[in-house]
Amino acid sequence: MSETDDLRALMEADRWIERVSAQRTHLPESEELAVLEGELRRLQKSLLEVQAVAEPLKRAYDEVARESSRLKQRANDLDATLAASTANARELNALQKELSHVRALLSQSEDRELELLLEFDPREAEIASLKSLAQPGVLRRRELMDVIVQLQASLAEEIVSLRSARAARAAAVPIELLSRYEVSMAHAGTSGAAGVVAGRCDGCRLALSPLDVDRWKAQPIGTFMDCPECGRLLLP
Ligand SMILES: [Zn+2]
Repeated sequence: MSETDDLRALMEADRWIERVSAQRTHLPESEELAVLEGELRRLQKSLLEVQAVAEPLKRAYDEVARESSRLKQRANDLDATLAASTANARELNALQKELSHVRALLSQSEDRELELLLEFDPREAEIASLKSLAQPGVLRRRELMDVIVQLQASLAEEIVSLRSARAARAAAVPIELLSRYEVSMAHAGTSGAAGVVAGRCDGCRLALSPLDVDRWKAQPIGTFMDCPECGRLLLP
């Protein structure tokens, strides 16, 4: 193989590594996950807002419901006492008075209970609907995370094997040429060499001047001019 072939093989190896690395950082699954997480965060925020309103209502409702049940119990006890009572008229009168007071309180308490329930119910429905909206997203998120882990691992493995193939190709390039290649790769990224396609460097896409194209065409075998823009070695 000529030096040109060796350099081209090295350039292709580096371009492969770049392609697979880019694939790794731009997985469509990762993009989907980012969008999904945004949606889930918005749902979570709404859920917290509704819960912040619903929770005090629920506590107030429970308290009033306990009070209603206590009053109901008291009214029943008073009823029973009155029915069985052999007390005198004054005591009966006092019991009657207490009973109607308890019933008035009970009626107020039950009204309040209903009001709170009417306020709380729609919130509870909203919470349930937000949770069921988020449910498929939560499952999809789990799936995506698993897929991403697998893809990342297999791409990482591929990169390791591409790097070892790359090392073999680099070893085939004469040392001085390799060091020029590495310097321009460190500067330009991706690879240290490029081809010329339709008068453009296919590394940086710069259109070469007619003079540079002539220089490039006339370069003796085994010498490589640098791209005036990116500095990559221009292969014949
Ligand atoms: Zn270039």
